Amino acid sequence: MSLALFAPGSEWVIAQSICYATTEQSQGAELEEQEFKAAIVWLIANGKTEEALERLAKHYGVCVPKLKVGLPKGHKARTLGCYDARTKTISVFHGNALKEPLVILHEFYHHARTGIDTKHRGTERYATEFAGKFIRAYQSLVVESLGNN
Ligand SMILES: [Zn+2]
Repeated sequence: MSLALFAPGSEWVIAQSICYATTEQSQGAELEEQEFKAAIVWLIANGKTEEALERLAKHYGVCVPKLKVGLPKGHKARTLGCYDARTKTISVFHGNALKEPLVILHEFYHHARTGIDTKHRGTERYATEFAGKFIRAYQSLVVESLGNN
């Protein structure tokens, strides 16, 4: 193959491979984040809630919240979980709620927000959205691995 013919093509290949490299890198980081979220959901659903909280705390650079079964007095009806910023404790209504990723992640969001800014605990909507992202990451990875089979 003559150089004249080869050169334009190879430039294109180089340009493309640089492009691929950057996309792959950002996709890699994104995938890692998705895998992290999926792993957290899996841990909670399998009763390894304390380990999940440890990993979450490390990931978001906050201290590990305490975990307690039994809600404090005066909680609202039909509450599954709550967070006490004073004692840094996530309380859940009963043992089964410890395995509810939505409940644990929702309360962890309040904990993380309080760790960053003591006055701001984040809104309920943001806490639910935060938890939802983890669930979606888990679902999408599960669907993906089923698709690969
Ligand atoms: Zn809340």
